[in-house]
Amino acid sequence: MDDTVCTIGAGRQTFISEPNLNPLGIMPIKVNIDRRLCKGCGICIRFCPKNVLGESDAINHYGNLYPAVMEDEGCIACRLCELYCPDFAIVVEVG
Ligand code: SF4
Ligand code: SF4
Repeated sequence: MDDTVCTIGAGRQTFISEPNLNPLGIMPIKVNIDRRLCKGCGICIRFCPKNVLGESDAINHYGNLYPAVMEDEGCIACRLCELYCPDFAIVVEVG
């Protein structure tokens, strides 16, 4: 796991994966998880078809365990994590 923490806006902390190329080696992909918005439901982890996301042992200011990017290079940019997150805490960037 090789993650970067950055701060965006007023107090927003986002967990960002290192850019990687998809399996075809065409476009860089980044999975951004906003710790502040996450309620730790784990839906994103369950729906990721490539097991890219996993449970971290870190908590946010709500006391929730937020997910982490565990297998950075496996992401295929399907965006299921982004689509199923009920709190809009994930954004997948391609390109
Ligand atoms: S975009 Fe798809 S493969 Fe990548 S982390 Fe999200 S669910 Fe997993
Ligand atoms: S689906 Fe959203 S709210 Fe639930 S654990 Fe994942 S990032 Fe957090």
